[in-house]
Formats: sequence, C-alpha cells, structure tokens
Amino acid sequence: MGTSRKSKAAGLLAASGPFAKQFSGFVPREQQQTLADAISHALSDSVPCLAEAGTGVGKTLAYLVPLLLWLSKNDGTTAVISTHTIALQTQLVEKDIPAVLAVLGLDITYAVLKGRQNYLCHQEMDVAAADLLAEIDPGFVKLQQWTKETKTGDVADLPFVFGNWHDVSSHPDSCRGKDCRYISKCFFYKAREEAAGSRLLVVNHALFFTDLKLRQLSANAPGMSLIPDYDAVVFDEAHHVDETATRNFGVEWTSGRVPRLLSRCKRISATNPALLMEIEQLHQHLVTPLAVQGNREGFLSEAWDTDEASTTFATTRNTLVKNLERLGKDLDAIAEASLAGPDQDRAYGLSKMATRAARELEQAASDAPKTFAFNWFTVKEPRGIATSIAVTFTETPHFISDAMETALLARTKRLIFVSATLATLGRFDDVRFRLGLNRSSVIECRQGSPFDFAANSLLYIPKHLPAPDASNEYASRMLDIMEDLVHASNGRAFLLFTSHRMLQQARDRFAGTRWPLLVQGDKPSGRLLADFRVTQNAVLLGTYSFWEGVDIAGDALSLVVIDKLPFAIPDTPPQRAREQRIKDAGGDAFLEWSLPSASLRLKQGFGRLLRTVTDTGVVGILDSRLVTKRYGRMLLNDLPPAPITHHIPDVESFFGANKR
Ligand code: SF4
Repeated sequence: MGTSRKSKAAGLLAASGPFAKQFSGFVPREQQQTLADAISHALSDSVPCLAEAGTGVGKTLAYLVPLLLWLSKNDGTTAVISTHTIALQTQLVEKDIPAVLAVLGLDITYAVLKGRQNYLCHQEMDVAAADLLAEIDPGFVKLQQWTKETKTGDVADLPFVFGNWHDVSSHPDSCRGKDCRYISKCFFYKAREEAAGSRLLVVNHALFFTDLKLRQLSANAPGMSLIPDYDAVVFDEAHHVDETATRNFGVEWTSGRVPRLLSRCKRISATNPALLMEIEQLHQHLVTPLAVQGNREGFLSEAWDTDEASTTFATTRNTLVKNLERLGKDLDAIAEASLAGPDQDRAYGLSKMATRAARELEQAASDAPKTFAFNWFTVKEPRGIATSIAVTFTETPHFISDAMETALLARTKRLIFVSATLATLGRFDDVRFRLGLNRSSVIECRQGSPFDFAANSLLYIPKHLPAPDASNEYASRMLDIMEDLVHASNGRAFLLFTSHRMLQQARDRFAGTRWPLLVQGDKPSGRLLADFRVTQNAVLLGTYSFWEGVDIAGDALSLVVIDKLPFAIPDTPPQRAREQRIKDAGGDAFLEWSLPSASLRLKQGFGRLLRTVTDTGVVGILDSRLVTKRYGRMLLNDLPPAPITHHIPDVESFFGANKR
C-alpha cells in the first residue's frame, strides 16, 4: 500500500522547516521526510506501517514528529512508544521528546513506565528487614535511607549497587495491589498513575507484551493491565518484537523456582514441614534425571529413552503440581489467620508464588502434543556466577501471528514498526508473517541510508575460500585472512563470530600481536566498548551481542569482519519446530525462515561500520557462499551498496587512500 499525499510532518522536516532552523546539527534528508510521510498516513488512516530506515535516516524524528502532531490533533487519544533497550527509552524521555515538543510548540504530557521489577517495594522492604537482611548486608541500611529520600524508587536512580535488589523490588506474586498498606506511597503504582495521566507513554517491549498477555488472559478485565489503554503504538527497534512477543506468549519454568520458594516458606513457622519436604523430594526426582545428563536441549517428547521413564516423569510432574497447589492453599489459610503485617504479606505473596509455579509447571512441562506450540527443555551446566545446573521447561508458540492478530491488531491498527533492519530479501513479507500482518492492509516504507557507501566503504569476500566447515584447516585459513585484514586496517577492528568456539580460536591467534585485544566475556560489554573507544588500534572479538546496538563512530572502528553467514543453529528445538511447521504447510523452511533470519542478522553486523556521514571502512564477510550460492546473491542484495572485492590488496589500497 503506498501514499501520495504530502504530510505536514514531512514539510516540517524539510530544508525550509523549523527543525532545519532550530535543531542543532539537523540535516534535511529526503529519506526522513518520506518516512515521516508514511507514518503520518498510517496514523491518520489507521493502517499498520512497516518502516525500515537505514543508518543516518533519522528515524526517531521521522516518527516523533507525526506522532506528536497526531496526538495534538486528536484530543483524548493516547499513544505508546515501545523500545527494546532502556538506553533508548531514556534518550527519548530525557532528550528527543522534549526537544521535538519545543520545536513544534506543543504541550503533550509524556512519561516513562518500566517493568515493576525496576521499582522498590515497601512491603518487600518490611519483609527483608524482618529477615534481618539489614544485619547480613550493610548495603541494606543505605537502602533504607535511600527509600526515605527517593521520589521514584527506580533502581536506575539508586546511587550504589545493591546486590539483593531482586528481594526488595516489586513482584507480581507478592504485590497486594489495592490491599497493600503502602498503596498510597507505592513507587510502582505512582509511576503507573503518572503514566495513566500522560498522553504519550514510553515503555519497553518486554513490559508491552507482558501487559498484552495479561489483557489476553484476563479478557481485558478492568484493573488487570499494566499500562493504560492506547490508540497508537510505535515500536522502535522493532526487529526485536517477534522474539520478545514469542517469549511473553509462551511459558518458562526454571528449576531454581522451587528451592527459592521453599527456602522462603521455611521462614514461616506455621507451614507444614512434611509438605515442604515432599515438594523438595518430588522436585529432585523431576529435574535430576535430566540434570545428570549435562548440557542438553530437546523436545520434551524426546527427553526419555523408555516409556517407563516418560511415565515416571509425567507422574512426578503431576504430583508436584498438586502439592504446590496444596502449599498455595495452606499459605492462604496461614495468611488469613495472621495479623496484618509482614508475616501476612509474606504468606499471601508465597501463596501466589506456589500457585503460579504449579500452573506454569503444568503448562511448560506438558508432553501432550499441541498444534499451536511446542514444549522443550534445556539443561545448562553452571557458568559465571551460577552455581548449580539449571533445568528449564518451556512452552513456545510456533508463531505469534495469530496472537498478534487477536490481542493487538484487534485493539488498534495504528501500529508503527520502525527499525534499521526489518525487511529481508528486499521485501517485508517475512516480518509481515511473523507479526501477524499478512492478512491486513499495511503501509510499507523502506528508506536506505543516505551515507555514501559506494565512496566510503568496501566489502571484501574471499571467493577462493571453500564453504565453511568445522575442520581446523578451514579455521586456520579463515583466521589467516582475518589477520591480513587486521594488518591492512592496523587494528581498529570488530571481529564478529557466529560461535564461541571460533571466537576462542581467534583469541589464540591474536594474542600477543601488536593490536590491543579485547574479548567478549573478559569484562562487561559496556566496559569493553568504552575501552575500545579509547584504545588506539584495538581489536575486539565478540559474538552475537556485538552484532547490533553498538555505535562506534569515527576512526576507532574501520574494519568489521564477520566469520560466517549467520544462519541459526539448525538443531535447536525452536528452529526444528518452526521448520517442521513450515514444511507441513507445504512451504520451504530455508527460504521462508532461515534465510530471512540470516539476512536480518547480516545487515545488523554490517551496520556497525559506518555510523556517520564521514565514516569510512571495510566489511569482510569471510564466507564464499555469498558469491557461490544463489541464496548468497539474495543476501548480498539486502546489504548497503558497498563495492565488492575479492582481493586483499584492494583492501590495503582502500586503507592507504583513506589514511587520516
Ligand atoms: S502495592 Fe505492591 S509494589 Fe507497591 S508497595 Fe505494595 S506490595 Fe509493593
């Protein structure tokens, strides 16, 4: 669906508009105006919009201007902006929204609302104090003082790190809502009230979809939502919507839940010790046979070698569910019999926790075949700060398209999905399918980056390298090329890997070279990036978390090398389940699922290179399938129009000519 009318928003962003005069550093861009136009029409015509804006288009202004104009024209309406990261939420509320409102001369109320776990809970503080946490943790006394001083109760405003935040923050199980003694000064409810009084609310995808699921489960019963009703939603960083919504429409149950619940229950003297012991034993019987097998994942239906083992698992699960339900009822009775105070609050909270653990275990560890979802398990051996093996049962919907249609599209059609990477293989078909928009009329707008990729960048592909395999010989040849490229750029490089194994091999190869080496996992990612910015000629090795959202402008980053086409690991249960569903429907799982996902990831990795109009640099994608396979050409067509070379001397010449 296209648009031809010119919108007011596009005019405001033009060379003759107020942003060109009043916004420092503003450069009028045709791409930005076209995007603003599309979003204006989507809002006024009540049609969903899929918008891809390459680096440098200025997508934030392109949606803020039409959205704020639309709100100003339509009294009583409200809108939500949902982002993936807290950093973008903060930037919107502290910088972009007030700046755009000032230029437009509009007065529209706005607020940010975070997930409840970000807010301190007075009731949990009481419970923690009664547990003598204050004596064990000296930080607790500081926290009590901060509780008296803070206006927000938001962990982001806490001036020190409190390691047990999880024990004192708001939690859906323990929150008493309107029955809470502290409701009048509750930080979370105050933030919700402020949000309810605002015309524009900024949230993150996780909160948005938690709310959507709650609305769905409660059939929109009043008071059951986390965020107020809305008439329009802009999803920024929209390429994360599918994955966040999938997680929220599914159910996950981890083995740490029962031990945590039991240890809290043991502090309530009236609980039945025999019941607690029985639950503990059943839990052991449920998870130990999986835990002893070490790192593993698979469908629940294939977890057991024998029918007998499968039956034992089902019986144990069902008995554990019943006992957790019984514990919930016992705790309710204890709460009713208690005097109002921390003990009663704690018993009510634990009762909800036990009941929810029972309900979610039954659903997540179900081995009954379903048409809409699949059940799977993972076993993870301890890593980092974890000390015990984690067994997780998960129920995941095959696709979220139906849920998106019934839960979201039925509510409003003013849904704007914006991202630097949204279209795949030149089209929006894949994202339309994933987001449940394939049966709707949709405005599509794809605006490439205004940067001059032809002049400022080069794409190197080693045509002579064989297709990737797992041999040491292949790894060694690939690392030789990586080293040649890093030589040419003299460091200043991101080396991005599709596996930890290859990252480790690269670490061995680059250790002791003249380029300072920064490796993912050695420090928190934020620290690594800060070090990279200030360390001359550094080389950073990272896996997927560095493929996106990392913004290093200027000379510090002049080379991005990707070790291999980023196809998802083929044998994970989610990948297998979705591929099977597509095959069952007569489709081609590779073309319809694997290839679009790889294209999106590849564009993200490529997008790390040029961050400003003056940046220059080289991307190396060390996978000859890009030029030897037909699908490789399809992936190449999705990338920015950088000239392609297969020769290292061209890379050396590029860096020679672009010396600063
Ligand atoms: S209303 Fe809920 S979050 Fe707020 S203080 Fe009470 S229990 Fe905590």
